[in-house]
Amino acid sequence: YPNLRTAVDTVAFHAARQPRQVALVCEGREVTYERLHHDSNRTARALAAAGIGRGSRVAYLGKESEHYYEIFFACAKTGAVLVPVNWRLTPGEVDHILGDSEAELIFAEREFTEVAERSRDRLPSRPEVVGMDGCRGGGVGFREWRAEFPPDDLAVDAAPEDPVVQLYTSGTTGLPKGVVLPHRSFFAIRDLLAEHGLDWIDWHPQDVSLISIPGFHVAGIWWAMQGFNAGVKSVSLRMFSAHDAVRLIRELGVTTTLAVPAMLQMMLSEPGVGPADFASLRKVTYGGSPISETLLLQCIETLRCDLAQLYGLTESGNTALCLPPADHVPGNPRLRAAGRPYPGVEVAVTGDDGRVLAAGEVGEIRLRTPAVMLEYWGLKEATAETLVDGWLRTGDAGYLDEDGYVHIRDRIKDTVIVAGENVYPAEVENALCGHPAVAEAAVIGVPDERWGEAVRAFIVLRPGTTVKPRELKLFLQDRIADFKSPSGYEFIERIPRNPSGKILRRELRERFWAGRERQVN
Ligand code: ATP
Repeated sequence: YPNLRTAVDTVAFHAARQPRQVALVCEGREVTYERLHHDSNRTARALAAAGIGRGSRVAYLGKESEHYYEIFFACAKTGAVLVPVNWRLTPGEVDHILGDSEAELIFAEREFTEVAERSRDRLPSRPEVVGMDGCRGGGVGFREWRAEFPPDDLAVDAAPEDPVVQLYTSGTTGLPKGVVLPHRSFFAIRDLLAEHGLDWIDWHPQDVSLISIPGFHVAGIWWAMQGFNAGVKSVSLRMFSAHDAVRLIRELGVTTTLAVPAMLQMMLSEPGVGPADFASLRKVTYGGSPISETLLLQCIETLRCDLAQLYGLTESGNTALCLPPADHVPGNPRLRAAGRPYPGVEVAVTGDDGRVLAAGEVGEIRLRTPAVMLEYWGLKEATAETLVDGWLRTGDAGYLDEDGYVHIRDRIKDTVIVAGENVYPAEVENALCGHPAVAEAAVIGVPDERWGEAVRAFIVLRPGTTVKPRELKLFLQDRIADFKSPSGYEFIERIPRNPSGKILRRELRERFWAGRERQVN
């Protein structure tokens, strides 16, 4: 549907074209496109009556719900910017986001209203807190709050360049920053693919899409929007659990999803799960963190559907590179790449001095993409450091190969420097995951008197297996260079990860670096 340019177009168009088509299923409740349109009209009116207008920030603190996307569309209709808050954050972190975004109104689910109200009381603007599921502490419940407003269409003025969401980076690389994305971030890649007749990410009218990644993360809300743009049925999980995801795929005949590798790993590790559980799947897209080859081969074998890897950042408006389905063939060396740019997206690899490097040379990946963010909210300097002459600095180390595929090594800030040699944790983790006893691995740099830093590995074993560090060392011998091989191992129950599946290396590093500054190049 090339006539769609903004989220406002999306919901109005499908409400008119296929009013009774189900847009969203959450906990068994179905919302049609017509209802999504009408209810978001009501909510948009209620927002306007509460003084919310163009550029206002509206926060949402809760899990996925049938109302989350209604609020998203309602904000778009009033010109307001939705600030979804990760509900797993600590009260201090929530405070930071509500204060930094200058939220003028906060939607909060019951279990989070207390945190929201406490934050509100500390904010000079004292934003109103609307409880999502009924009244609490004298507050108003969402349904009553918007009940008196009519559902009919309102005059809306929205443009592709208008900001529509402000997503906070998870802060694995510093204090969370508010990434402001315009409507075009949700349409640009889809348009490029259509223009070039590519089916890397394609949609069929009968698709049933699973929104696996939470909507406060760029990948979650972006994926949900792709489904809405295509006018298909999307299924959302209140919160991800591998058990529920597999069950919903089977019961609702899910045909497509976007998941992070950690989710796929959990789904494939569910007891008794096999190809029959995934028979309805047509295409699975994945990305958000590096995937190990072991897991990728397992996906090819068990999911038995088209696979496409996506690479991107919140700042790049989600995906900027894609490893297309045709490359997902066991034995293909390109399986180790994160993907190639969509036609219309450019990639450059630069050295420390900003010089563009040749194919094969490792440097910082820069992207020029039509889906790029507008800015970091309120951070002029950080924006100028990240967006340079139209190029987005990703902070990822990697290289371009002769065929134009991009190989991501890891985040520059996570690189471990052993006696001046760069060690990329993802490479070591990938090698470790090839060992049959290793379910998951995480690698960090720890201070070392002699070499500056030393490589340390944290291992989660597969149930019922054991392995000695000595055996792992032997296993790595002909797989990675000696200086990359961990000099210390710890066996743990669980690798700490953020909701988008990224390893929280800072948490693992803390104990080793207490009181010391870690130098990164
Ligand atoms: P922070 O920047 O604070 O860590 P975040 O974790 O929310 O916040 P995102 O924007 O979600 O950040 O993550 C972007 C990063 O995820 C990329 O820079 C890259 O390191 C990693 N990433 C995304 N997709 C892939 C992929 N397909 N392969 C490898 N790494 C990926």
